[in-house]
Amino acid sequence: MKMVAGSTTKQISGSAEVSVKASSISEQPPRFLISDLCALLEGYLDPDDVKSIYLAYLFSASAHEGQVRKSGEPYIYHPISVAKVLAEMHMDAETIQAAMLHDVIEDTKTAKEQINIEFGDDVAELVDGVSKLTHLEFESKLEAQAENFRKMMLAMVKDVRVIIIKLADRLHNMRTLDVMRLDKRKRIARETLDIYAPIALRLGMHGIRVELEELCFKTIWPKRYEVLKDVIRRTNINRDALLKEVEKNISERLGNAKIANRIHGREKNIYSIYRKMKDKRLQFSEVYDVFAFRIIVDTVDTCYRVLGVIHNLYKPVPGKFKDYIAIPKKNAYQSLHTILFGPKGMPIEVQIRSEEMDQVAQSGIAAHWLYKDKKAVDNHAAPHVRTREWLNTVSEMQNRSGSSLEFLESVKVDLYRDEIYVFTPRGDIMELPISSTTIDFAYAVHTDIGNSCVAAKINRRLEPLSTALQNGQTVEIITSPSGRPNPAWLNFIVTAKARSNIRSYLKNMQSSEALELGQRLLNKALRAYDKSWQDISRREQVNLLKDLQLESEEQLFHEIGLGNRMAPFVAKHVESLRGSWIKLRRKSESKNPLAIRGTEGMVVSFGKCCYPIPGDAIIGIMTAGKGLVVHHIKCENTKRKTTSRDKWIHVYWANQINNEFTAEISIRTANEPGVLAVVASTISDAGSNIENIVFDEKLGSTTMITVLLTVEDRVHLARIMRSIRNIPQIYKVKRLQ
Ligand code: MN
Repeated sequence: MKMVAGSTTKQISGSAEVSVKASSISEQPPRFLISDLCALLEGYLDPDDVKSIYLAYLFSASAHEGQVRKSGEPYIYHPISVAKVLAEMHMDAETIQAAMLHDVIEDTKTAKEQINIEFGDDVAELVDGVSKLTHLEFESKLEAQAENFRKMMLAMVKDVRVIIIKLADRLHNMRTLDVMRLDKRKRIARETLDIYAPIALRLGMHGIRVELEELCFKTIWPKRYEVLKDVIRRTNINRDALLKEVEKNISERLGNAKIANRIHGREKNIYSIYRKMKDKRLQFSEVYDVFAFRIIVDTVDTCYRVLGVIHNLYKPVPGKFKDYIAIPKKNAYQSLHTILFGPKGMPIEVQIRSEEMDQVAQSGIAAHWLYKDKKAVDNHAAPHVRTREWLNTVSEMQNRSGSSLEFLESVKVDLYRDEIYVFTPRGDIMELPISSTTIDFAYAVHTDIGNSCVAAKINRRLEPLSTALQNGQTVEIITSPSGRPNPAWLNFIVTAKARSNIRSYLKNMQSSEALELGQRLLNKALRAYDKSWQDISRREQVNLLKDLQLESEEQLFHEIGLGNRMAPFVAKHVESLRGSWIKLRRKSESKNPLAIRGTEGMVVSFGKCCYPIPGDAIIGIMTAGKGLVVHHIKCENTKRKTTSRDKWIHVYWANQINNEFTAEISIRTANEPGVLAVVASTISDAGSNIENIVFDEKLGSTTMITVLLTVEDRVHLARIMRSIRNIPQIYKVKRLQ
């Protein structure tokens, strides 16, 4: 069937030389022929459908007869290549026919009516839709640009396949851009990056989006592209062995657990590295120095199992686990994400997903045609349902907006990934980079708001501070005079403003927190002698500081607060300076315990051995450099003889506590499919975040799951555990201490 319009090849002239030079540079692959396309189509379409596409090819070839592309190549190769892109995504026969005919109305004398007669109404409408988009200029005057954009959106609302074809068309044009003049190349690349790549992203068509961005980046910033590419190449040489080791370890473990899987080391695309460096102001090494793996398995439940297995293999980085299966992204993307400490401390980024999720992640809305007949994807998260919802809003916006410009603005709000727009409770609009969290929002409003933020409401509902904001949400920040930045925020914030503010605040804060705690501890110790720091005369204070070789009382408090000096010793020292106190018997230390408010900041931390939460009986231990570490009173670490009793501080929970704490529970469950997903969603429904999950599979018919989760206090934890116990397949739920 190699019948590619042979007669046109003799038309090659003049411009052909250009193409020869260009193609020798860019190593173009051998031509993709109509026979190759048919072979590809036969893999998933009925013979009748393949035939109908072949007829469209014949029609197109004769309409374009004699035309050549700028490269000198017969024109028909272009529609064949566009059809190929779509066939690789397994699009339906009508779409492929329309792709084959997409330039026929535009570039030849063929009328829409003729296509209608030969190929039917649907194909004719698709071709007409694509043709109307062909001459849209986005560089022209603002109004004209807005009007063109509106046309494009409306075409999409009518039949989303129009845009899918247009994206495939643009992709092939970008792939063959080398023959164009430099200024034209840059203009087309700019337009692609501004208009088409965001649409591909919005439709979840990851594969096309990444390739478009890569080609645009290379065209617009060739130097930066080359530099980055070179750094990546050199970095990879050094890391190949480590990468192989990690991959081998993971696949061995999964093999032992009898989990069938495909594992890919992921190639990070250069443009996304560049963007991250630029947007988050990070060094190349901070962005790139991660091994990235994608593990693809059969079912949702297996995804959670794999997570457990690899968390057993490598320790997870706290706070980096993200469950996009329970809560899919807006473009229907689903996956589990986690980051592990790999060999030599290298972070390993892992994505775990099912085959179906992977298909959706690559092709987005196009996966709808792929899974058309299967019920499996017929849920609220399915890409076509999500896309339909979005297109409905687009058409509503169209009805509401007065002018094209207004419409452009409102759709851009929804389309552009560079920024999201959210509202303050008073209705002021705030512009933030994508995946900004409530904390980024708080700092964007005002530095003081960020620094004293304790909670946030999104659309009037309380949500965790780490929640990524979506377009159009109303965000209200709740502040408190005792609120202060938490070092953990640095793990999820996006904006440079929030980052620099939090860092500088923490630096000053640690010092002033230590000072405050030190003063509290010293006064507490002095109370054993019925004194306070104020009761001591200035002269005695000076003598004490001289004895201890300290310069100021601030330095003294600071040293005590950080755990470098023990308050009871200092108090004793004061006592020895004052003969008159000597008769006073030291009172029992436990009579004046210290209140723990949970907002002391970095100088008060909670034991990772026993995870104390409000409601537990607790004890504090002063640790040099770390300040006060709070443990459960029954924690093994408090029983160790090595800890000097002088370092023990009696503490209790304050009445008002505004903070989240971490608790650890173990769950014994039946080895049944689906249980893990139910457990994960039950925990999230009870208002808690999972920080880590570890599995022990070696128990035959049961599985032991250890979960690290966030709670407010014992009551909250009890409620979560009760909900888990109510799941039929659960045998036992226990808090670990
Ligand atoms: Mn075209």
